[in-house]
Amino acid sequence: MMSGEKSVILVTGGTGLVGQAIKTVIEEEKQQQKSNNETWIFCGSKEADLRDKAQTEALFEKHKPTHVIHLAAMVGGLFHNMAHNLDFFRENMAINDNVLNASYKHNVKKVVSCLSTCIFPDKTTYPIDETMVHNGPPHTSNYGYSYAKRMIDILNRGYHETHGCTYTSVIPCNVFGPHDNYNLQASHVIPALIRRMDDAMQKGDSTFTVMGSGKPLRQFIYSLDLARLFIWVLRNYNSVEPIVLSVDEEDEVTISTVAEMIKKAHNYPGEIVYDTTKADGQYKKTASNKKLRSLYKDFKFTPFETAIHDTVAWFKQNRDHARL
Ligand code: NDP
Repeated sequence: MMSGEKSVILVTGGTGLVGQAIKTVIEEEKQQQKSNNETWIFCGSKEADLRDKAQTEALFEKHKPTHVIHLAAMVGGLFHNMAHNLDFFRENMAINDNVLNASYKHNVKKVVSCLSTCIFPDKTTYPIDETMVHNGPPHTSNYGYSYAKRMIDILNRGYHETHGCTYTSVIPCNVFGPHDNYNLQASHVIPALIRRMDDAMQKGDSTFTVMGSGKPLRQFIYSLDLARLFIWVLRNYNSVEPIVLSVDEEDEVTISTVAEMIKKAHNYPGEIVYDTTKADGQYKKTASNKKLRSLYKDFKFTPFETAIHDTVAWFKQNRDHARL
């Protein structure tokens, strides 16, 4: 983006975890009067069902964006994915094709779409990096979601090759924060633990069970940190090649560390126990953020404990209208 030039930035998936974090950061910037030439528009599925080509085009016609952050996706937990791989593939393919084609037709200057570290090849070497997206089949449990995400990269390359467009993608690790999905069937590990521990405290349970051994390692990024990086990518990163947006490799934590931090933030007096009869999933999925670190040297991630503390505080304050 050129300073001084007026831009209209459309954020698809603007009502979700990542979209709402971007909105918070932009509102902070506005209070500091930093983003004067930018108009930001955050859309959810109520404004337009992006699986529908006509609705997608009407949305672009209405807002005439110059830039797009494309977050909208059919997302879900492991079991939802396993049961609906065909739907995950078709719906996400339709959303992505509609959004990128409408962007092309409306001369959008730049699109930043969202992949995920969970779409990488199942059998791989570590750490995983941006060059490895297409190196082998994804895990069978979520192949529909994974292949649809990988095809965003193919579309980006095609629009660049054929029409010279700057459509790129970012690859976040696991995200958590305010406005997450806290529904017990659909949620990821951090919101699930936060919600279940709150339930346990309300019931006065003296023990809290974590599924699995607690030993697997994961990288987690706070949604507000990811939001800042997304905005940085939109303004400063001009390559079609994907870029991993993750915390450092040494910031990988075990699930038991996560559970203990949530316990501390909740002030839960009980004991955490592990149900080792339940599946652990992959032991680790370490991603390298070397490329990000080489381009944005001084970015400071929020300390994990602070981010967990703030997320638990948000949940406690907003439980009544959170996505449960
Ligand atoms: P959320 O589930 O919080 O939000 C999903 C968003 O997509 C909502 O705004 C939803 O709108 C919108 N949406 C879904 N279907 C449609 C549709 N048919 N038409 C229009 N909008 C639709 O997701 P996150 O914020 O967690 O995810 C954002 C992006 O980040 C996704 O692309 C996801 O794949 C990716 N990602 C997420 C990670 C995570 O750990 N959460 C990790 C890595 C990548 P509404 O709510 O109004 O229906």
